[in-house]
Amino acid sequence: MLEIRNLSVRYGQHVAVSHADINVLRGEIVVVLGANGAGKSSMLKAIGGMVPLDSRAGRTIDGVDVSDIPPHSLVKHGLALVPEGRGNFVELSVRENLLLGAYSQSRDDEEARLTEIFDLFPRLRERLHQQVRTMSGGEQQMVALGRAMMSRPAILLLDEPSLGLAPVVCKELFRLLVRIKKKNVGILLVEQNARQSLAIANRGYLLENGKITASGTSAELFEDGAIGRAYLGT
Ligand code: ATP
Repeated sequence: MLEIRNLSVRYGQHVAVSHADINVLRGEIVVVLGANGAGKSSMLKAIGGMVPLDSRAGRTIDGVDVSDIPPHSLVKHGLALVPEGRGNFVELSVRENLLLGAYSQSRDDEEARLTEIFDLFPRLRERLHQQVRTMSGGEQQMVALGRAMMSRPAILLLDEPSLGLAPVVCKELFRLLVRIKKKNVGILLVEQNARQSLAIANRGYLLENGKITASGTSAELFEDGAIGRAYLGT
């Protein structure tokens, strides 16, 4: 389980996230909803180590305190982040991108890890030597997810994975996230696509002006009138 306590993110005087507590269990999808500028990306970056944690904040993975672990080592503790914009190495091939996802692991079982990825994303096997720059948006998102999964994470952090994808490709992406969750991976998902993400999520948090103002099961959030009006168009 990923446990985040008292997370705040400041940019100079500006407080982007204030005293947030978040939990994600293995095998569940948790979505963070919020308007533009609510602080969703800042929160995810701080959880993933891309923005330093405030000294009063705590981060544990499966009970191990990783609050002070440097970002490049968090992956060894089971945390993988797919940033907004995917973070692919677009000049490189699919295979090269995937292998970079396992850079911190032993090289002995590289092929076994690749096989696990191809089970999830058969299309990547077909496109193994294709340069990532030449792939469609949906395929590039699969490469990013595949690269993150190469580290066999306990928890996957995803920042707006559906951004810029056509509706039919979004649907496929959300189906893939459910398959990843079934591999006993916890997914913390930041999304503007509230309806589709709540439909696959177990639970969610609502972030408003840097503060968590609501949390609950997806059904509870769906039924919350204020959330419906603001984020679901109901
Ligand atoms: P969006 O969905 O539009 O990306 P968000 O909910 O992810 O929004 P953040 O990107 O986390 O929100 O931004 C939260 C606030 O922090 C915004 O007011 C933003 O301008 C500010 N902010 C984000 N990054 C920085 C930065 N590097 N320096 C200064 N302010 C920043």
